[in-house]
Amino acid sequence: METTEILDFIETFRKTSGWNRVPREKALRRDLSGMEMFDPPLAGTAAANDPSFLLLKSREAVGPQFLLPGEWLPGAGSVVSFFLPFTSRVREANGKSGPEPAPEWLHGRIEGQEFIDRLSRALVEHLREAGGDAVSPAVDPRFASCTGRNTVFRDQNGTPLPVTFTSNWSERHVAFVCGLGTFGLSKGLITSLGVAGRFGSVITSFPLVPDNVVPEDLYGNCTLCGECAAKCPAGAISPEKGKDHVLCSEYLGLMKEKHSPRYGCGKCQTGVPCEKGIPAKRQR
Ligand code: SF4
Ligand code: SF4
Repeated sequence: METTEILDFIETFRKTSGWNRVPREKALRRDLSGMEMFDPPLAGTAAANDPSFLLLKSREAVGPQFLLPGEWLPGAGSVVSFFLPFTSRVREANGKSGPEPAPEWLHGRIEGQEFIDRLSRALVEHLREAGGDAVSPAVDPRFASCTGRNTVFRDQNGTPLPVTFTSNWSERHVAFVCGLGTFGLSKGLITSLGVAGRFGSVITSFPLVPDNVVPEDLYGNCTLCGECAAKCPAGAISPEKGKDHVLCSEYLGLMKEKHSPRYGCGKCQTGVPCEKGIPAKRQR
């Protein structure tokens, strides 16, 4: 098994499964029926015992509740992270739709995530059929996250951990370790194909050849231009203080009330210089 085979599997699933298109019965407008949500993927591979995963247990990264690859899958050999960028139709509609999420974006966020979940399960099955073992944490029953003020995580003694807006597996942080990009002021991960898209990952027993270079600069791809802060309708991003997760979450809650069962925003990912690639550094 090689990473290129996994990348080929993802691309074939994207092109042929049918799940990368908005189903007719769910389309928010007639012209959105059949709309493609994702372009071709990127993937990166890290050894399951890469010491950078251990750093994700610190409070400055994901937190002590983060489970290591070997905790998800005893005998883990490798972690593959993948990124699927949204199509120009999804990105551009959201870049132009004012403070409200465009219907194209709502589909990308919800039906797009359903696609990622189906892909992750299919990838696990594929790796098992190939003779290995695999887990995709985001679709595993052990996955847990908390977005509110109260944590759901406890230490070995049962004491609640003082962490919020976090989970026991973070796709963005895992993508960072797998060498797919660096963080931006908006806290999105800026890859070579930009920030606007969705991540997924799989842990496998196959000892794939690692191809990751963990960036030394956490924010190396971000120019700190501040355009994501200017676009945020909730005022949740500030060049001085970074991102306020409470304000962002409250705005997403408001959007859910208006667009239920869908929700989303993504204004900090569209119509900004890092939307579809690594922005050019400004001349000093
Ligand atoms: S819009 Fe500018 S400041 Fe915000 S994440 Fe992108 S590059 Fe960084
Ligand atoms: S998702 Fe929307 S509310 Fe949240 S930080 Fe980005 S622009 Fe602001």
